[in-house]
Amino acid sequence: MTRRILCVFAMLFAAALCPAQAGMPHEIPSFDVNAIDKTADPCVDFYQYACGTWMKNNPIPPDKARWGRFDELTERNLYILRDMLNDVQAPGKHTSVETMIGNYYASCMDEATIEIKGSAPLTLELEKVANVATKADFIRQVAYMHRNATPVLFAFYAQPDMHDSNQTIAYLDQGGITLPDRDYYLKDDAKSVETRQKYLEHVQKMFELVGDKPGAAAAEAKIVLDIETGLAKASMDRTLRRDPKTRDHKMTVEKIAGQAPNFDLTRYLIENGAPKFTSLNVVNPDFFKQVSDQINAVPLDQWKVYLRWKAIDAYAPMLSNAFVEEDFLFKGKYLSGQKEIEPRWKRCVKSTDANLGMALGKLYVDRTFGTEGKERTLKMVEAIENAMREDIGSLSWMSEPTKQKAYEKLNAIVNNIGYPDMWRDYSSVVIKSDDYVGNVVRAGAFEVHRQYSKIERPTDRKDWGMTPPTVNAYYRPPMNDINFPAGILQPPFYSQRTDDAVNYGAIGVVIGHELTHGFDDQGRKYDAEGNLRDWWTPEDGKEFERRADCTAHEYSNFVAVKDDKGEVRLNGKLTLGENTADNGGLKLAYIALMHLIGDTPVQPTDGYTAEQRFFLAYGQIWCQNVTDQEARKRALTDPHSPGRWRVNGVVQNSAAFPQAFGCKAGQPMVAENACRVW
Ligand SMILES: [Zn+2]
Repeated sequence: MTRRILCVFAMLFAAALCPAQAGMPHEIPSFDVNAIDKTADPCVDFYQYACGTWMKNNPIPPDKARWGRFDELTERNLYILRDMLNDVQAPGKHTSVETMIGNYYASCMDEATIEIKGSAPLTLELEKVANVATKADFIRQVAYMHRNATPVLFAFYAQPDMHDSNQTIAYLDQGGITLPDRDYYLKDDAKSVETRQKYLEHVQKMFELVGDKPGAAAAEAKIVLDIETGLAKASMDRTLRRDPKTRDHKMTVEKIAGQAPNFDLTRYLIENGAPKFTSLNVVNPDFFKQVSDQINAVPLDQWKVYLRWKAIDAYAPMLSNAFVEEDFLFKGKYLSGQKEIEPRWKRCVKSTDANLGMALGKLYVDRTFGTEGKERTLKMVEAIENAMREDIGSLSWMSEPTKQKAYEKLNAIVNNIGYPDMWRDYSSVVIKSDDYVGNVVRAGAFEVHRQYSKIERPTDRKDWGMTPPTVNAYYRPPMNDINFPAGILQPPFYSQRTDDAVNYGAIGVVIGHELTHGFDDQGRKYDAEGNLRDWWTPEDGKEFERRADCTAHEYSNFVAVKDDKGEVRLNGKLTLGENTADNGGLKLAYIALMHLIGDTPVQPTDGYTAEQRFFLAYGQIWCQNVTDQEARKRALTDPHSPGRWRVNGVVQNSAAFPQAFGCKAGQPMVAENACRVW
């Protein structure tokens, strides 16, 4: 076991010393010459140049809808986590936390017991719905389902007050649909019509699995689609929601309860287990007004069909194989183009991370990260923050008063690296090795309670939004913080064994990306304390918007997918914040790298200059293959652009890129009107 720990540890330091474990994917190189397609011209299609050979040699595995170098790392982490979860189940002395996560994982892997139980764990939930006799019971049932983390009808959660970020308050929000976006219910193109037909068939099959006759199940599916279409119509478009001003409606409970009388929100708030409060933020008041009418117009028996469906849909992935399979066939295969379901162990590792992630994460950090990882990353963060300070200072379009405010905000950004200071205490959650569904429900209820407990209390700025093994990073406008879980702080994003140019092109750009989020079209509306407050002079605000519009327009011309169902372009407004962050992040990391290199000439490595390696490392982070179905879904729902445009969109706006590769004006990777916000 000691040797194994050493080898996991080594993924940060000296993987070459360790033999690969069974099935464990090799460490992913930070910079891979073999990924490059040398037949392509970097000035014509840089993505093809940086990733062409990788894309050719790495078809999408059958259990994935997208396969990129980002996903390779996520996959590698799954193997590491599985080894840990197997270790804590082996005979020997284990801490109570280790025993708990071991039991959780074991309960998920115990397919025999799950198969014997069949749909039984759902029976009690369906009986509860069956007992709903009045509209008062109906809202009570919604509150009960929310307490147990089953999404239904609308959403209720805790978030910092948009105007006083030190205080956390309750939020009421739209919700209740099952398909990935409201557009799936409302658009009339051939693909959307087909998807709704497939959804009807899927819902019918699920009702049949809990024992309903085919005819009845078909009628129930129709009711579900009708009700969810009503919820979709009342919902605000995802792109509009990006503007925090559209979500800013603090009001008294009395007021919203009066505006949406059929919701019976007063009763809901008594029943949902949240602390008492008098005012809250209603993210989309129109949703509640419109659905209030729907609650009145649709008979109670139909609402009960909808509640049953939401329970079945939430429980399906945890039940016996027939449910798991049907759930996959629609959501994985049809909606995403994934050929096969992931092996059970991968789903069980993910489930453990989703429900007890801070306990599993502690083990992961103890074994892989260590405190020195934190220090190394902090040094890079500081270098890139300095680059941003310099960049703000050099902007010709921003006036001095706004620059001062921007510095203030930049100076106030909190850097969270690797893992939280305090580990979450799950000791009150009952975990049994033979009760998978019960474990998921109890862990879900624990998390809901933990979130609700934040309401009407000072904001907990130390609470993390991602678990430590997660391969991702995030910025939170109300907290004004940037966060890098341990999972992303390893190759191909960061390696101690590679040159600075490569590290700055990879994790450096990620750091710059998160920093820039504080100043993108959403982030710029929050001040240094994380309050929604305009700190821009009107002229500077206009200049910003003009530049952001350039980016939105540019990305709207990029094609996300082109197949027999037609062509879908990116939504430049939906992806504006991420594209701004990509463009700004690359610029900042490049400035920081140039300072680091200084005047000392760097010898080319693998035939590439430091500047070229910086851009190639950036490009190679985003090497990916994706199914047409997944690309289509993401074009509608994902605020990030696909890999090709995260790379080509950014380099064609970059002033440094053409210099690095000797590209000339007029070539595709040199934009005629480069869009630059930061
Ligand atoms: Zn981002």
